[in-house]
Amino acid sequence: MVLRSTGDPEFVELSEAINAMAEHYALLVEEATRHRNHLNAILSSLVDALVAVDKDLKITIINPSACSLLGITPDSRGRYLLECIRNYDLNQLFQQVLQEQTTIQQEIQIFSPQHHIFRTIVSPIRSQRTGRLVGVVAILHDITEQKRLEQMRTDFVANVSHELRTPLTSIKGFVETLQDGAIDDPESAKRFLKIMETETDRMVDLVKDLLELSRLEASDRSWDLAVVDLARIAENMTDAYYQRAQELGLELSIAIEDNLPLVNGDATLLRQVLANLLDNALKYTDAGGQVWLTLSGDDTGVTLEVEDTGVGIPAKHLDRIFERFYRVDKGRCRQRGGTGLGLAIVKHIVEKHGGTITIKSEYGVGSTFTVTLPGIEDMSEIEDISAAAL
Ligand code: ADP
Repeated sequence: MVLRSTGDPEFVELSEAINAMAEHYALLVEEATRHRNHLNAILSSLVDALVAVDKDLKITIINPSACSLLGITPDSRGRYLLECIRNYDLNQLFQQVLQEQTTIQQEIQIFSPQHHIFRTIVSPIRSQRTGRLVGVVAILHDITEQKRLEQMRTDFVANVSHELRTPLTSIKGFVETLQDGAIDDPESAKRFLKIMETETDRMVDLVKDLLELSRLEASDRSWDLAVVDLARIAENMTDAYYQRAQELGLELSIAIEDNLPLVNGDATLLRQVLANLLDNALKYTDAGGQVWLTLSGDDTGVTLEVEDTGVGIPAKHLDRIFERFYRVDKGRCRQRGGTGLGLAIVKHIVEKHGGTITIKSEYGVGSTFTVTLPGIEDMSEIEDISAAAL
């Protein structure tokens, strides 16, 4: 609104002064609004959760990340912190910063709405004018994934050490027994050397699988990508597996659909997927059982199924079966000569090829592993199929 005055010069001057003030005030309001919008934009784009409280521990500011990560609603402003986030440690931390008036960093675990671990930095807020404490602000940085990876690394080292220690202890024991005189008894010596050979083979397998896993995980690994015909790979493996199945007293049936779609992949690795799944099916099925390998295709790609009437896997283990070193029955699996890394390797390879792997299993009845791999969508892009590494 603008005041207009004519006539008396005093009124003209006054109206001009009022107009100038109104203009100044409008500018101030505009600037304050711009500042507030800017601050809101920053708070909204923060990935970290931000929570500020006043001296009574009542919430004054929360950003959208805080709402989703801590399970609070934007209308929590003005309410007590503990009322909105039921976490004793976080509340204690805010209280400590209020008392000590210094910045404190601490890891905080939140269990609701989901389990999260946060690196939390809490600092006192001081009035810019008086320097007096007016509240406390916390930034919560989500380190859940980082912690999970750290834990996985620690577990991995512990597992590898354990896996190597077991055969090493056994070999050392037999070496000592031989040195203590068993070497003079050819029968015992032969038996002990056979066990030592088995244990050494187990360590070699383990190291081989570990190297394979680390090669698969290396981001700079160069992939031998080519047009791969899974039907041909499977056909080339059949003789060896039919023979092994026969030796084990198992019935193996292989069905490969005609005109199976071709896939873009690394033939050596895809051969390993087939071999690992077949090895497991033969390993975990007792004599008299059956194993089927089926390869079929559709518009999307190839489906590879390995089914057995073996020992099966209890439902509670199914979620973790693709983890490294995860075994259903440690004793029995070692007896059957596994490293516990085979399925982890398989999953890695399948996912690197853009595929999926699932398992259906019933304890005491059998298991079915199903792998899907995307087919090559546009064959016209592949100029000379016969020249490619089929
Ligand atoms: P391993 O070398 O011990 O066989 P894997 O990673 O290949 O390791 O498999 C992990 C675990 O999954 C095995 O120890 C076994 O308990 C279970 N498993 C894998 N395949 C089968 C199967 N076909 N039938 C029953 N159990 C299986």
